[in-house]
Amino acid sequence: MLQDIAPHAYAVEFKEKSPKEGDRLLCYAGGRLLAKDGEELDFPCVTDLPEAMESSRYLFSIDGTAYFLYQGDALSEQPGLCWRELSDLRAATPMWRVFAAMTGAHLWRWYDSHRVCGRCGKPLTHSHTERALVCRDCGITLYPQIAPALIIAVTDGDKLLLTRYADRPYKRFALIAGYNEIGESLEDTLRQEVREEVGLKVANFRYYKSQPWPFTDTLLMGFYCDVEGEREARPDGQELAEARWFSRSELPADERQSVSLTQEMIEVFRQGREPR
Ligand SMILES: [Zn+2]
Repeated sequence: MLQDIAPHAYAVEFKEKSPKEGDRLLCYAGGRLLAKDGEELDFPCVTDLPEAMESSRYLFSIDGTAYFLYQGDALSEQPGLCWRELSDLRAATPMWRVFAAMTGAHLWRWYDSHRVCGRCGKPLTHSHTERALVCRDCGITLYPQIAPALIIAVTDGDKLLLTRYADRPYKRFALIAGYNEIGESLEDTLRQEVREEVGLKVANFRYYKSQPWPFTDTLLMGFYCDVEGEREARPDGQELAEARWFSRSELPADERQSVSLTQEMIEVFRQGREPR
């Protein structure tokens, strides 16, 4: 999956650092990222943009190389560099750099939309001890936003329920998905989403894996569960256009490395390796 970047190693512990030669600079503007020219995704080194170094903030490291977020004014055209649409990066290579680009974008969106205190309107400042923004005036502390959400594989013995969205560009079959609402346990969310989206009851929840999904600032948690009682899925018609049972042998084989938790959970079911 996107975050499985081994043998590369990601380190996100909070540090206050200054850029040094070889470190990378992540510059975002209007849904785009500044990348090096070329087929493979790569980022400018801090030394390529010396004027940007002063306005950059340390985010994380990969294999000991530090990644800094540029937070200054709009950059002019730079030789050897080009702007790439973030929405196109999911298909870019290598995957570990896509992970770096999107994880940086998650933090960039958060910093970009939290410049002043929402309570008193004063400018926010950076904490020196943790990844947080602090209002020195009213004392509020804000942390990066991560929304918990579930990916739900409803099974019936040898069959898996796949769904298709009504109004999204993504037209392939997927699993049921939904955000955890305030006051809900994950078990409540799971029952509620399955009931709302396809009108079924479920039991025997089996946790599979989680996935940070920076495209939507989300932490996904994948569960398998069994349908209980009525088998006929009734898609809600608003969010979902279609919901169908597929037997293992009907699922198309996809043995490439899966980018998403959904893809991996469908493939694991096809191979009969899901938690029982
Ligand atoms: Zn305040």
